Amino acid sequence: MSTRPASPQYVFGPVPSRRLGRSLGVDTVPAKTCNWNCVYCQLGRTHPLTNTRKTHVPAEVILAEVEARLAQLPPASLDWITLVSSGEGTLYRDFGAVLHGIKRLTAIPVAVITNGSLLHLPELREELRAADAVLPTLDAGNEALFRRLNRPHRQLTFAQHVAGIEAFARLKRRGKLWIEVMLVAGLNDTEPALRELAALLVHIRPDAIHLTLPSRCPVEPWVRAPDAAGLARAQAILGEKASIAPPPVAKHATGTKAGEPLIASVALRHPLRMADVERLLPSWSHARIEAHVAQLLVHGTIRVIERGGERFFVRSELRYPGPRPDSD
Ligand code: SF4
Repeated sequence: MSTRPASPQYVFGPVPSRRLGRSLGVDTVPAKTCNWNCVYCQLGRTHPLTNTRKTHVPAEVILAEVEARLAQLPPASLDWITLVSSGEGTLYRDFGAVLHGIKRLTAIPVAVITNGSLLHLPELREELRAADAVLPTLDAGNEALFRRLNRPHRQLTFAQHVAGIEAFARLKRRGKLWIEVMLVAGLNDTEPALRELAALLVHIRPDAIHLTLPSRCPVEPWVRAPDAAGLARAQAILGEKASIAPPPVAKHATGTKAGEPLIASVALRHPLRMADVERLLPSWSHARIEAHVAQLLVHGTIRVIERGGERFFVRSELRYPGPRPDSD
């Protein structure tokens, strides 16, 4: 029996990435499988949180999709292959098999975007040594702020999270270690919060620190990006390794999917403004796009969420709190 599915479920793009140029995405978990419930998550609230690594699909199925997509794309069209999930990808038990399988398929560098919560597991650290870059999240410098910002599964502690990142940082022959810090106004952009974070980062010694901002449909309506003073403070305190990642732009995804399936597929991973949809489908007229979006809304595949005065199309199964009465 062939392990190749009829249409890709686990591979998407290439899409432009904030930090990785043109990136082919590989998603290893069903939306939204996560052990954190971050206030800034663009994929809605995690429900229920899970901290159990599972194999919900054979690694061969994911690898067959990667191989098929690579065969369609000129090698020069990709800068990275990125294991980035609509949730926490390392909750997939066969993550190492997928990562090593991709390394066997291609010389294109492979990055792993992860919340880093499972780096306390020696077996995962060993698996991730094969990656050319690992980008774990560290938003907070203490347990209380970690709980407020990342709202982790009850089995996870801040001390365990930091120890996992530190242990991975000390491994020999690992790829780049780029720490991701999502800055949220009033939470981790204050001077005391940034100084605590800086003290940990000095100890971890990452290759770079990527400061990111909640620019796209954060799950909690009150979440805001820091103002200019907050950004300047973060850069000054976190030091020269820290840089602000530019906001993502959804461009033409050069996918095999067209129209509705493409919009539905991308909306599962990135909330989309209407302008983003137009960039995804550059050869389509505005009227044609509006008609297809209307159809997806009527079918209930996507719905509209408002954040910061902007309207975003999100997949209907993702859970966002008000202000809309039809949301959770
Ligand atoms: S931002 Fe990432 S780690 Fe946080 S809840 Fe969303 S998917 Fe999970």
